[in-house]
Amino acid sequence: TPIHLNSDPEGEHRPEFILLLLHDQTEQKNMARMRADFVANASHELRTPLASVIGFIETLLGPAKDDPVARDRFLRIMLDQSERMSRLVSDLLSLSRIEMRAHVLPDTRVDLSKIMRHVIDSLSPLAQDLDVAIKTNQLDDDLWVSGDRDELVQVFENLVENALKYGKDGEKIDISYSRVIDSADGKPYHCFNVRDYGAGISQEHLPRLTERFYRVDVASSREQKGTGLGLAIVKHILTRHRGKLLVESQPGEGATFQVRLPVSDSADL
Ligand code: ADP
Repeated sequence: TPIHLNSDPEGEHRPEFILLLLHDQTEQKNMARMRADFVANASHELRTPLASVIGFIETLLGPAKDDPVARDRFLRIMLDQSERMSRLVSDLLSLSRIEMRAHVLPDTRVDLSKIMRHVIDSLSPLAQDLDVAIKTNQLDDDLWVSGDRDELVQVFENLVENALKYGKDGEKIDISYSRVIDSADGKPYHCFNVRDYGAGISQEHLPRLTERFYRVDVASSREQKGTGLGLAIVKHILTRHRGKLLVESQPGEGATFQVRLPVSDSADL
């Protein structure tokens, strides 16, 4: 029976009403806590390289003033740390821009095969450096979705770059396309698999990969110039596009990240 909020003389349904309000506050509190955690994490991530840069500047102004060898070495470290801060800031900006648009459905007609080819081209110098061949199948068809081109470029860039970074040097990575009917909603999706043959990820880490700043192996990720924000960005973009991100991995055998994006309903969108 529906509850009439304005005809409840005994007031017996009021507790439910209050419960809803409490629930709402809990939600708000969670949001506030998550935001505070995020600001704390982001500040910490920035403070570490910043402290190191300040330390080296002090050393260069003081004890190492007349030591050309030390100066060279310290300047290189400072450049490294500054580049790290720059990557962090641009990832943080990306995240906040995507979040601001979270409730707007992207509505430009874009061709995913073109986007993927562009991403592969732009990452081929990195692949060459690592001696990794990027293999693809069926990328010459028109694969239309309604989406935001730059954001989708970023999705594929982050996944292919991760496959290159965490894959095995001298091995290949596979990018494959298929069209699938999603069993959850029965609708057609464009489906891309990005597979590498690196160390893989053990089961317990998989559900947490899209958390901001979550890294399986902090040392190796630092070495790989990671910020821990790449997959969080991917998740946010795909959510806005009504898409999905799936992952599968066996430690020692590599990882497969799968992107699903709904096939554009109207041909002339
Ligand atoms: P990062 O900037 O550190 O690469 P991401 O959000 O892109 O951050 O990824 C989070 C973590 O997930 C990485 O630090 C790494 O530990 C793990 N990871 C991501 N992709 C792969 C992959 N293809 N193989 C193994 N581990 C991966």
